[in-house]
Amino acid sequence: MKYSYRIAFEKKFEQYIIKNYETQVSNIIGSIKSEYINGKWNLPSIEQIGKEAINKGIFIDLYDKNDNLIWGAMNYNSEICSIVMGSIENNMNHMMNGSESMYTIQNIEIEDEDNNVVGNVKIGSYGSLYYMDNDVEFLKEINKVITVIGILMILITVVVAILIAKNISRPIEVASNMANLIGEGGYKNKIDYDSNIAEIDVLIKSINNLSAKLEEQEKLRKRLTTDISHELRTPLTNVQTHIEAMIDGIWEPDTQRLNSVNEEVIRLTHLVNQLQRLAKFDSEKSMLNLIEVNLESLIKNIVYNNQSKALEKDINIVCDLENVTAYLDKDKISQVVVNLLSNSIRYTNSGGEINIRMYKYHNNVKIHFKDNGVGIPNESIKYIFERFYRVDESRNKDTGGIGIGLTIVKSIIDLHKGKIEVISEINKGSEFIVTLL
Ligand code: ADP
Repeated sequence: MKYSYRIAFEKKFEQYIIKNYETQVSNIIGSIKSEYINGKWNLPSIEQIGKEAINKGIFIDLYDKNDNLIWGAMNYNSEICSIVMGSIENNMNHMMNGSESMYTIQNIEIEDEDNNVVGNVKIGSYGSLYYMDNDVEFLKEINKVITVIGILMILITVVVAILIAKNISRPIEVASNMANLIGEGGYKNKIDYDSNIAEIDVLIKSINNLSAKLEEQEKLRKRLTTDISHELRTPLTNVQTHIEAMIDGIWEPDTQRLNSVNEEVIRLTHLVNQLQRLAKFDSEKSMLNLIEVNLESLIKNIVYNNQSKALEKDINIVCDLENVTAYLDKDKISQVVVNLLSNSIRYTNSGGEINIRMYKYHNNVKIHFKDNGVGIPNESIKYIFERFYRVDESRNKDTGGIGIGLTIVKSIIDLHKGKIEVISEINKGSEFIVTLL
């Protein structure tokens, strides 16, 4: 790069020298013309012009119209002329890598004011491109400056490149170490690093989010293991105790005892079914089979099927449904209604009331499931849609759930690009509002 600057500069400098030479020659001719006054040459001035020209590497011989020499550079001082010529030749050899420099003579006629030829001048020089000592000095200095600037630029480029590489590689290294830590289960760690590079900061933020999510999942997984083993162990122990007592002859295998064992087995089956449903939902959750669904009859059917459970607890279900049809995945939306209704029945005390209201709102469908049951504490509302989250284990002990009903509801509604909101007050009741687009 340094050399290309240098070459470009030398080319420009050559153009400058050629132009300068042409200007000097035309100035010399002009000056000589002006020294022909009233048919006579002003010799002292001509000599002055000739001397100055020698210093610029231009050697003039002035002849009158009869070809008599009026003033000649070599005649004036051949020694100075030889010194100047020698130095120019030297410079030319040096600048043009030893190629031969040609001494040329240009013949120019001199005319007076009336355009009569009054003489001619022979201008000798080393072409229009030749270098005087100060030109060579100037070029050398400039080349030095270009070399220094070139070296400085390379150094600055290297330093900047190293700094940029460090700035990028350091946060990437931090992020990669963190990813490895996450891989080994260190979800609690967070990257606390500000790289000042937007894309890398986004990457760091994503890794932090990922580790937070994985930490949460890990907690849920541990809770699930405890929940499942607890939920399964209780009915299993009961069944085992009852059967052992009967085998040992402590209890008669009468209808009441066998019914009690059967209830525990039913509880176990229900639990296993719920787990199976979750696994199935997980594997096919992104598939939607959209068809035109009459929501009014869909809800009415589900209410009808759950009526006996509600009656067992003396719960009254009141429906206020508009005739609404929409393009939905019928099975999945049925699952939403079943889960929300069965939650309302399970978490409402005997003698309570459940209201189901459905209406069109702008282009959307809104369905409200309102109960006057146990309600949900404020601090728990944000967790209830999370997998395996249950508000209060002791409170929920007899409801038979494992905390996945609302997770499924939320995923199905998200898949339909709808939303679900909850308004609840402890001991007053809960309202789940589903909006479908
Ligand atoms: P579960 O199988 O435990 O019912 P869900 O995911 O359906 O799981 O619900 C999560 C938790 O939210 C429940 O354990 C319960 O504490 C609370 N909940 C859900 N619906 C209601 C409701 N209608 N009234 C009061 N609490 C509710």
